[in-house]
Amino acid sequence: MASPGAQALHPYQPGKPASELAREIGLEPGAIVKLASNENPLGPSPLAQAAVHELLALSRYPDGAGFELRQTLAEHLQVEPAQLTLGNGSSDLLDFVTRIFVQPGDNIVVSEHAFSLYGLNATAVGAEVREAPAKDFGHDLAAMAALVDERTRLVFITNPNNPTGTWLAEDSIRAFLAQLPEHVIAILDEAYFEYVDQDGYPDGTRLLADFPRLLVTRTFSKAYGLAALRVGYGVSSTELAELLNRVRPPFNVNAAAQAAAVAAVKDQAHVQRSVSANRLGMKQLIDAFEQLGLDYLPSVGNFLCVRLDNAKTVNAALLQRGVIVRALGGYGMPEYLRISIGTEAENKRFIDMLTEVLAQGD
Ligand code: PMP
Repeated sequence: MASPGAQALHPYQPGKPASELAREIGLEPGAIVKLASNENPLGPSPLAQAAVHELLALSRYPDGAGFELRQTLAEHLQVEPAQLTLGNGSSDLLDFVTRIFVQPGDNIVVSEHAFSLYGLNATAVGAEVREAPAKDFGHDLAAMAALVDERTRLVFITNPNNPTGTWLAEDSIRAFLAQLPEHVIAILDEAYFEYVDQDGYPDGTRLLADFPRLLVTRTFSKAYGLAALRVGYGVSSTELAELLNRVRPPFNVNAAAQAAAVAAVKDQAHVQRSVSANRLGMKQLIDAFEQLGLDYLPSVGNFLCVRLDNAKTVNAALLQRGVIVRALGGYGMPEYLRISIGTEAENKRFIDMLTEVLAQGD
């Protein structure tokens, strides 16, 4: 019989696949604009593409230890390879850390409007999910600290946060981590790290020297444009990495993902191009929202939340026009839609369709 935790769960709802919508509304899949899952509209580095095409030994298992990728990442991040744990997406790390530390009756602390996977993993193992109310749509670290007790095993900070795009400065994160009791592990989820250039925004890996019970998670799914291949990583103390690697399935990162990620790390120029394109796309959307008189949440990620009184209806009308964005009812923000920044043409299509929908009031 399924565990009580599994029975209590509702499956994670990803954005609708473009091919499915195309079938439903009778369009070619290529005509669909999907701005729903915070992917990189430029795609991966051409070097990463080439690395996948050149992959020959499909009959061989991948390197179970991910030696080359860990070596490449360690050099890039200026950490030791032994501090790294590779994941099938950074989602894998969130699962590992929960399985290691959280037992039935324990609790985890998250912020309102945070990534749903934290709670999903904890619920699955029979733990309580304590959600601190957000402040101005961002994490209220004091409210989170107030929920920590002797049964708290994990606290999750998302910097910047998805879906709200808010971010926390180094001093506030340091102060929060410094007051956590010894029995708590903090996870700093930096899935959108590469996009941020705000003064005072910390590189979580630089906090590890002072906070050994910290796990920093990052991904190749966003700025590196490799969401399809599923590869992410954790950076932590070697002791914590050793534990994480104990529960990690040995071949969790496939050979194509490893080869592509190695090439992608070595092409930082592509990351910079992606970040610059994101900045222009963000401005394109903000200008449109201002022209349409719509409120939005300023975001440092590759996505933006816009406020609409009838967000659900607008979302449905956009879908009918072949535009997929993300309704945020499941994140406690029913009056918001989250739009991932696309190419200039994708953004324009979204803006045109949104303008049409708002004009027609349907
Ligand atoms: N953390 C955050 C905040 C995210 O938004 C996502 C993806 N939407 C992830 C983690 C997981 O990403 P992945 O497993 O693709 O690395």
